Amino acid sequence: MSTAVDDLGAQLIAAENAHVAHNYHPLPVVAARAEGVWVTDVEGKRYLDLLSAYSALNFGHGHPAILAAAREQLERLTLTSRAFHNDKLGPFATALAQLCGKDLVLPMNTGAEAVETGIKVARAWGYRSKGIAPDAATIIVANGNFHGRTTTIVGFSDDPTAHDDFGPYAPGFVHVPYGDADAIAAAIDENTAAVLIEPIQGEAGVVIPPEGFLRRVREICSANNVLFIADEIQSGLGRVGETFACDREGVVPDVYLLGKALGGGILPLSAVVANADVLGVIRPGEHGSTFGGNPLASAVGLRVVEMLASGEFQTRAKALGEHLAHGLESLVGHGVTAVRVAGLWAGVDIDPAVGTGREIAEKLLSRGVLVKDTHGQTIRIAPPLTIRATEIDWAIEQLRHALS
Ligand SMILES: *Cc1c(COP(=O)(O)O)cnc(C)c1O
Repeated sequence: MSTAVDDLGAQLIAAENAHVAHNYHPLPVVAARAEGVWVTDVEGKRYLDLLSAYSALNFGHGHPAILAAAREQLERLTLTSRAFHNDKLGPFATALAQLCGKDLVLPMNTGAEAVETGIKVARAWGYRSKGIAPDAATIIVANGNFHGRTTTIVGFSDDPTAHDDFGPYAPGFVHVPYGDADAIAAAIDENTAAVLIEPIQGEAGVVIPPEGFLRRVREICSANNVLFIADEIQSGLGRVGETFACDREGVVPDVYLLGKALGGGILPLSAVVANADVLGVIRPGEHGSTFGGNPLASAVGLRVVEMLASGEFQTRAKALGEHLAHGLESLVGHGVTAVRVAGLWAGVDIDPAVGTGREIAEKLLSRGVLVKDTHGQTIRIAPPLTIRATEIDWAIEQLRHALS
């Protein structure tokens, strides 16, 4: 009956496969439109979005308030470059700095650029403020990390798929096991400029460190004059039921790296946020980006920060996260071996006896639910924070069926 439209989906997938580099292995669904938590494919079939573009869609697809800010700005001014001032960057930076409790914002575009910027800032701070010998600065990173795809960043990934065959790699990174504060303390020496960690490791499968880890990292960094850089690109901006995942332990890092949801699901927008004694080390001309801090992105980012300032999304994520955790825990022992939940964010380990993460994701797709597998046996769940409890219940039922 639906052969003609089926053909359209198949044709579009074939066109992608023929002309897009094979750097991804997407699930076989061709999205055509979306609203809120629901995506519609080219054949008119609807799917509940439990991935949210890896948390870039924390407010759902086409949130009216964000769309309005983008539309209004589109008509007025979209790009100036930083050669000139624009009337949106100041208000955006002021609001974001306030949300973070910091002085300064350095706007970029993608998450990887924020990480690269954080690395440059940490090194410059190490030489100019801490007094590390030239070119000797090191940064401590965690095993299992994911910080993006640039050549420097993949050089300190220990995931062979991300890392192998892209060398030579930039030196200056020291690995420690994730969640092990003693290992961080032991790894610090006079050349250590920073500790760079995800407060919860997203790509690794929503790996939550032991309680107290972030507090100890904070203490160790303060005691040793080392910067604590928190990559909150996926964990931040409401996802875990707090503004930042660091808030779960009442910890304030020296540097926040933000991205993904900062762009409101509309455009790429990332930022490095820190106090003037850290971010102030960067001087004119030393760092930049043609699109970073553009007025369109700033207008969107300002609206996102305004929405987060009320705390309503964080509260929602916390309450619904408990609901999600309850539903997922009921599946442990029934095709699920373990679940890790922080707010509306979950890693679900699939029992190999019922299939791989990919196979379960494909079954869920046929049942109208979008999720993505990671590292073989895990599926990651990160719905828009606007999802309803009844929609979570429905998704859990689909997962129960997909596992049986
Ligand atoms: C997604 C992600 C990045 C990279 O962001 P891009 O926008 O894809 O470059 C960096 N760090 C973390 C923790 C991420 O989840």
